[in-house]
Amino acid sequence: MINDYYEVEVPQYVVLGSNILEKGLKEINILKRVRVALIITGPTKTREYGEIVKNILADMNIKVFIYSLDSSFEKMQDKYTNEIRSILNVALQNGVEIIFSAAGGKVFDIVKVCSELLSIPYISIPTTASHDGISSPIISYPIFEVISNKIPLKSSRVRPPIAILADTAIVSKSDRRLLYAGCGDLIAKFTAILDWKLAHERLKEKFNEYAAAMSILGFKIVKNRRKIINLATEESYRIVLKALIAVGVAAGFVSSSRPLSGSEHIFSHTLEMLLYRYGLKPALHGEQCGIGTIIMTYLHGKNWRLIKSILREIGAPTNANELGIEEKYLIEALAASRKTRPTRYTILNERNISYEEAKKILCEVEVI
Ligand SMILES: [Zn+2]
Repeated sequence: MINDYYEVEVPQYVVLGSNILEKGLKEINILKRVRVALIITGPTKTREYGEIVKNILADMNIKVFIYSLDSSFEKMQDKYTNEIRSILNVALQNGVEIIFSAAGGKVFDIVKVCSELLSIPYISIPTTASHDGISSPIISYPIFEVISNKIPLKSSRVRPPIAILADTAIVSKSDRRLLYAGCGDLIAKFTAILDWKLAHERLKEKFNEYAAAMSILGFKIVKNRRKIINLATEESYRIVLKALIAVGVAAGFVSSSRPLSGSEHIFSHTLEMLLYRYGLKPALHGEQCGIGTIIMTYLHGKNWRLIKSILREIGAPTNANELGIEEKYLIEALAASRKTRPTRYTILNERNISYEEAKKILCEVEVI
C-alpha cells in the first residue's frame, strides 16, 4: 500500500547572484530552442529591465515582444481580465513560445494565468523581493477570485516557473519597503504551518513534512538574520530572495498553497478585497500578512510578541498607523475573515469573531 504519493513540480533552473542576468539567460537550455518570446513588465521602472532582457534575448536570436501593463491595473481589479485577454492576443498572433515576467508584485499573477492558458512555460525575473509569488506555482487568492468568473481558469494552482533568475544587482535597487514586505510574507509561514497542522489534526487534511519544513525555514531565515536584513544592503536582498524562492518551491511539493498561506493570508486577502470595495488602496501584500501573523499567532495562543519584535527589527509595519490603513478597516477585516475562505481550515474556523471582539483582539496585540 502506498502511504505517500506526490508529484514534485519545481523550477529547472534557479540562478541567484549579482549581475547574473546575461550569463544566466545564456545557460538556460530551453532558450536555445525558442524563437519567439514575450516579456511582461510593470508600468514604470520595470520597463527598463524588460528592455535589458530583450537585448540579451535578441543577442540569442530570439524575436522578442514586450507588453507593459497599464499603470492603473493595480487599482482596478476588473482590468486584470482585459490585460490578460490583450496578452493572450499578442502571444497567439505572434507564435510566442515562452513568457518572461520582468517585474515585481501582481504582474507575476498575470504571467502565471497567461502561461497556464497558453500552455507555455514562463521564466521569473523578479525586480523586487516583496513576495513568494516569484517562485510559487500559485495565483494569489483575490486575483483568482476576480478573474475566474470571466477567464476559464480551473484552479489557482498553476505550473511553477521553468527558471528563476534573481539578480541581486537589480533587486537591491528596489525600495527597502518592498524588501521588508517580503519578510512579512516569510514571517507568515509561521502561522501558515500552524494552521496546516491544525487542519491535519481536526480534518485529517494531508500534511507534507518536507513542504512544511522548507516553509518554516523561510521564517527562520528572517528571524535569525533580521539585523542584516534591516540594513537593506545587497546581501540583505540576497538572503530574502533565497528564502522567498525556497518557500515558493515548497508549494511545488503539494497541490495547494497550504505551506505558504493560512489565516494570516486570509486576513490580508479580506482586508485587500474590502479596501478595493471602498475604492481604497491596500498596503503591500507582505506588510498585511506580517500584521496578520501577529494577530493569528495570538489566536493560536503562541508568542505574538516575538513575531512583533522580529517585524519591528526588520523595519516592517506592526500596527495600523505604520501600515497606513485606518483602524476601522482592520477591525472589519478581522471580523469578516472567517467567511472569506471557509474551506481552508485555519484558526479562524475555531471561533466566531464579532466586530467588538475583533476590536478587542487588535487592541490586545497593539495593532490598533
Ligand atoms: Zn503571500
